[in-house]
Amino acid sequence: MSMVLHHSKLNPPIPASITLRSGGSLVREQFQALYELQKLDSQVLEIDRSAGLIPAKIVEIEGSVDVLRSRLGASNATLQSLKKEMSDLEVTVAEESAKHQHWKRRLNDIKNSREYQALSREIEQGERQVRDLEEKLLELGIAVENQEGEVKEQTTQLQDKEADVRQKVTDLRDAQTGIRRDAEQATTGRDQLAKRVSPRVLKRYETLRNRLGGIAVATVHDGACSGCNMQLRPQQVVELLRATSWETCPTCHRILVHETQITGPDE
Ligand SMILES: [Zn+2]
Repeated sequence: MSMVLHHSKLNPPIPASITLRSGGSLVREQFQALYELQKLDSQVLEIDRSAGLIPAKIVEIEGSVDVLRSRLGASNATLQSLKKEMSDLEVTVAEESAKHQHWKRRLNDIKNSREYQALSREIEQGERQVRDLEEKLLELGIAVENQEGEVKEQTTQLQDKEADVRQKVTDLRDAQTGIRRDAEQATTGRDQLAKRVSPRVLKRYETLRNRLGGIAVATVHDGACSGCNMQLRPQQVVELLRATSWETCPTCHRILVHETQITGPDE
């Protein structure tokens, strides 16, 4: 669909009008073809634009998975640290209990009553401390259990989301393929249409299209240019209606076609 253009100079100045040698009827016939060519190219441009939005949409959708994935990562980290805290505490409790067992055995050997009482108090105090630690262990066990539930739930959510996103991305890729096919179909017949316009005008059309965001042809309605809404000189409108030469808008430089000169099937 793209035209290879060869310009002797880059961005040559655009004259206000191009005069063609051909007679009026031929120019009039070309107005129609050029207008249809612009319509077709605009459609393709629109199709390309909508296809161009798809990759960004895919990135956005895939980003929604990342949010869940990092949330799960954080929950897993919390779970691991709770488990670590729990196993450390279990070690402490075991060590403390072993110590008390050892002291209790020693207690039987002590004959001095003051020493006996001192050690008993210490053992008692130690056992109370162990009970507190065991209580803390119990709380940690519940926290670990809750956190495991949280992780499990978030894993399911992530898996559901991943499946959903996979489907959506597949749909978008299919849509993109469809759009590309539409674009190809839309260009069918473009060559035939382009052949109906004189090569000089066609070349100008392509140059303008590149420079003016894809719209090189403007229609004239109520004496104003549809490309820039500026009012044209009445004399230029008269010239345009005579259809003996091509006119371009002095403000936006687009090739002008009068609304009465286009009578397409949907006009
Ligand atoms: Zn204009």
